Amino acid sequence: MSQDITVPISSREVVSIFKKYGLRPQKGRGQNFLVDRATAIKIVEAAGVEPGDRVIEIGPGLGALTLPLARRGARVLALEIDTGLFNLMQDLFRPYPLVQPLHGDALEVTWADLIQSHFGQKARVKLLSNLPYSISSPLLYRLMEQRFPFSKAVIMLQAEVARRLVSPPGSKEYGSLSVLSQYYISGTILFLVPRHLFWPRPEVESAVVSLKPRSPLLEPSQEPIFWQVVKGVFRFRRKTILNGLLRTFPWGKERALKILQAADIDPRRRPETLSGGEFANLGRLIYNESSRLF
Ligand code: SAM
Repeated sequence: MSQDITVPISSREVVSIFKKYGLRPQKGRGQNFLVDRATAIKIVEAAGVEPGDRVIEIGPGLGALTLPLARRGARVLALEIDTGLFNLMQDLFRPYPLVQPLHGDALEVTWADLIQSHFGQKARVKLLSNLPYSISSPLLYRLMEQRFPFSKAVIMLQAEVARRLVSPPGSKEYGSLSVLSQYYISGTILFLVPRHLFWPRPEVESAVVSLKPRSPLLEPSQEPIFWQVVKGVFRFRRKTILNGLLRTFPWGKERALKILQAADIDPRRRPETLSGGEFANLGRLIYNESSRLF
């Protein structure tokens, strides 16, 4: 089907375009479409998008964010997993040559390769998304595993995940996602978005966050152990850091105590009281110690 269509931005328009293309929103793909123009513009403005900027958008759907981005003169690579929506996008974005639709799964992408092949090596690229809830945590972990290769990201996700991203040590929400994200990025919650501004309505409230990369403290070779420590000990967040380490690594108590002493961490503390810097230091010490042993 190819004819003149415009990007829908009200629930009535979204319903009508779905009907026209014989599609239904897929809950499993987190398809809750933003139907509020003011919020879409606020998100694009928060990203400080200027003419000529390069942007990757995850899950463009029906273009609620894509169109304001293109109108600002950004070059947008719009990555959509859903085949029906991808086909629809070909029609929808035809009048906007700055938008390049791409069919694929954001969880499978190697971001540096995608950036290089579409925008050139070392290009500064922004990431924008109204993220499908179903993939928000795994996607954030994937971005951090790849050392967050964006100059900035403005992302909408569940308010609860947004709070975990920014929560400080000692708070209820502080966990492995907080430690890892605060190591790789500095995040701010910009504003909340109520459920009624989506169609269909999601079950939870959303928040828009701004994320900027930080210079990692560790060498890339040291980071896998840092991840192992963080993910390992938070599986036992009620235990002391000593017991968490003993359950994560095949060590005797003496060795674990020695490492904690070298890191100046009281073995009776709980994982949720350790700062990102303390975790990074632990990772470095464990890495150095194991390199000496082998
Ligand atoms: N950007 C649109 C908006 O704001 O109205 C749609 C947002 S909707 C919350 C999420 C979009 O992400 C849907 O279009 C969905 O099909 C797409 N999506 C879901 N999982 C994806 C994945 N793994 N990779 C790429 N796109 C995905």
